[in-house]
Formats: sequence, C-alpha cells, structure tokens
Amino acid sequence: MRSRHIAVVGGGPGGLTLARVLHRHGHPVTVLERDPAPDARPPGGTLDLQEGLGQRALDRAGLLPEFRSLSRPEGQAMRILDTDGTVLRDWRPRPEDRANPEIDRGHLRDLLLGPCGGHPLDVRWGRKVTRVVPGTRDGVVVHFADGRQGTYDLVVGADGAWSRVRAAVSPVTPHYTGVTFVETSLDDIDTRHPGLARLVGDGSLAVYGVNRALVAQRNSGGHVKVYAQFRAPLDQQASVDRSDIDAVRSDLLALFDGWTAPALDLLRHGTAFLHRPLYVLPVSHTWTHVPGVTLLGDAAHLMPPLGAGANLAMLEGAELAESITTASGPGELDEAVRAFEERMWARAGRWATITTAGLERLVGPDPAEAVALFDEVQQS
Ligand SMILES: Cc1cc2nc3c(=O)[nH]c(=O)nc-3n(C[C@H](O)[C@H](O)[C@H](O)COP(=O)(O)OP(=O)(O)OC[C@H]3O[C@@H](n4cnc5c(N)ncnc54)[C@H](O)[C@@H]3O)c2cc1C
Repeated sequence: MRSRHIAVVGGGPGGLTLARVLHRHGHPVTVLERDPAPDARPPGGTLDLQEGLGQRALDRAGLLPEFRSLSRPEGQAMRILDTDGTVLRDWRPRPEDRANPEIDRGHLRDLLLGPCGGHPLDVRWGRKVTRVVPGTRDGVVVHFADGRQGTYDLVVGADGAWSRVRAAVSPVTPHYTGVTFVETSLDDIDTRHPGLARLVGDGSLAVYGVNRALVAQRNSGGHVKVYAQFRAPLDQQASVDRSDIDAVRSDLLALFDGWTAPALDLLRHGTAFLHRPLYVLPVSHTWTHVPGVTLLGDAAHLMPPLGAGANLAMLEGAELAESITTASGPGELDEAVRAFEERMWARAGRWATITTAGLERLVGPDPAEAVALFDEVQQS
C-alpha cells in the first residue's frame, strides 16, 4: 500500500508525539502548527508525566532515556498548608521514585522536536488551520488562515481546547467549569525570595481555602509558576481590566485576604498575570466516526488540568501512530482509526470523570476535601 499522506494539526505534546512515533517507524507525516516558530511564545509551566501514560508514550518514541535526564523527580514533592500557614502535609519522593517526574513544557517540546534518525520532523510553522473538509474526491481538504489549502488522506486534530478540526466530526464546544486560574510567575526565586523558595521547596506548594486555592510550582532555573484558583462567574471576569497589572494584583490580594503572609507574597511578587478560565468538553465526548479525520488530546476530551491532559494526549499520539503503521491494506487505515477512537474515548472518559470530581474537591467549599484527595492519590 502507498504511504498515506497524514497531516497532524497542532504541534503540542499530543501532535508531536504522534508525529515522532510515525517518523520513528519511517512513516511520512506533516505537522501543521499555527505558531510561527517553536519559541514564538512562552512555553508555559511544568508537566508531570506519569509512568503508565506520558512516559509510556516517550518510550514508544524512543525518548525515555533523554526524558530521564531532563526531568525532575524531586519536583514530585508536595507541601500543603492551611490558610493560617499550618503545614498539613509535607511529602517528598524517594530518590528512586520515577512515578510522576516533572518536566518544563519547553524542554518536552525541544525533546520531541529534537534530532531523529538524521531527518528532522516535517513541522510547518505559521500554518493556522481554519477549517477541515472531509469526504472530497481527493481526500480531506485543510484550509489555512492565509488562504492556502492542502489535501491529505488523514487529518488528525491535535489542536487543543479550541480545535478547528473538531467541527469536522462534532458540533460540541467547550463550556466553562465555574473555576478560573490566574497564573503569575516569579523568576530567580532562590536569590530574590529565598524564604518563598524554601517554602515552595523542590516541587509544589498548595494552600487550600473555601472555594479557592493557591498553588505554586517550581520549574527549572529558579522559575516558579503560581496559580490563584477560585470560583467566579464568567461575566464577572469580563469587567476585569487585565492590562492594569496593579489592579489585577490588588483584586487577587483582596480575594485571598487574611491568608498566611507567604501565600500572599507569592501574589505580591508575581510579575504578570494571565487569566485562564477553565473550560471542559462533556465528560464522555464521542462522535460518529468520519473517515479521514480524527482528534486526540484536548481537542477530543478537554478536562480540568489535574495532571492527565498532556499524558493522555501523548499516549494517544503514540498509540494512533502505531495503529497507522500496522494498517496495511485498503480500508485498514480507517479501521485502525476507528479502533483508536473507541479506545481513546473509554480511557479519556474515565479520566474526565476523575478530574471533574477532583476539581470540585480542590476548589470547593470544604478545604479538608483537597487534603483528603491528596491522601487518596498517595495511597492508590
Ligand atoms: C495550568 C495547567 C497545568 C497543567 N498541568 C498538567 C500536568 O501536569 N500534566 C498533564 O498531563 N497535563 C497538564 N495540563 C493539561 C495539558 O496542558 C493539556 O492537556 C495538554 O497540553 C494537551 O495537549 P494537546 O497536544 O492536546 O494540546 P495543546 O498542548 O493545546 O497543543 C495544541 C497545539 O495546537 C496548536 N494549534 C491550535 N490551534 C491551531 C490551529 N487552528 N492551526 C494549527 N495549529 C493550532 C497550538 O499552537 C498548540 O501548539 C495542564 C494544563 C494547565 C492549564
């Protein structure tokens, strides 16, 4: 059978893992990414990659040894405080514990884009996809924002929460969870704010209150990301002037008024503030199979950010790639994609249920539930 022309829309963790595993098997693939260059925007915070999910995917991509040297097992550490500053939990991993090491998103992206067998991955930067039309005589037509178009045998939408590919298979769009994260960061924390650096430690610090939480996560190079998490209606946020950093900061300080001083210092010293209202797709989002188009990762099953999304996207990328490479006869590619979808829906549905319940407990009316959830995860 001739090699099928496969386009992956989106060069995030899911799309790049798919492309990387296909490439490893010698299968041609093109990644269409809207960003003009890999470093066009800040890559974001840190990701924990689980042994049975993201790390399994990296193993299939032949990248596990490199991941082990780049990742931070000590980043699994977790300290939990109550709003008065009392330490409720102070958990540190054993040195050999590799269950969920952390990696900076930028390092993961560079790893997936790195050298592979002499030929670089075919990533087309600056290709913003606007629409995908399946079922034409020549295949699936992909339309780009600059007016160009391309035709492929299979188009995989790995283009995240606001996927443009999704509309080709499903009319469903994400809805707001009622929870917003406001992200800020501190640089050179060890030299500039040594007291806060000690409190955050090697991993994460979480402070839970009623319907709100503050979470700080250490990234590499003394960079710390802080997430102020709270329940708020969407329309309330429309009125916030986000260009006024001092106003955003004082709104947040008022929201967390009375909390232990170091927690508030994380907000006081934060440099810029980024609003992230959390959207999700319905817990069991499925669709009627459309030949020539599929989705993976957030495009297929956007869920609360509780340590599963990138892991699932990557494992799906690896599994889809392996299914594609083993499909040999006419019609087999479509069957392989159909089987992949069934498997993805079943697993993602389980994780969406877990993470949806988790968000209710972590940013909910009873802070003791957040601590109980941490204990349950530790014991599982
Ligand atoms: C604060 C926070 C912390 C998180 N922590 C974790 C964690 O520790 N572990 C974990 O597993 N998950 C975590 N997640 C979830 C994780 O970030 C996502 O689930 C994951 O990034 C999804 O990967 P993806 O490849 O499906 O999509 P994305 O990472 O969203 O990548 C999509 C790509 O598609 C591109 N794109 C978008 N639209 C177009 C278009 N129209 N045309 C072309 N390209 C396009 C984008 O530029 C991007 O490169 C966290 C999320 C948040 C918000």
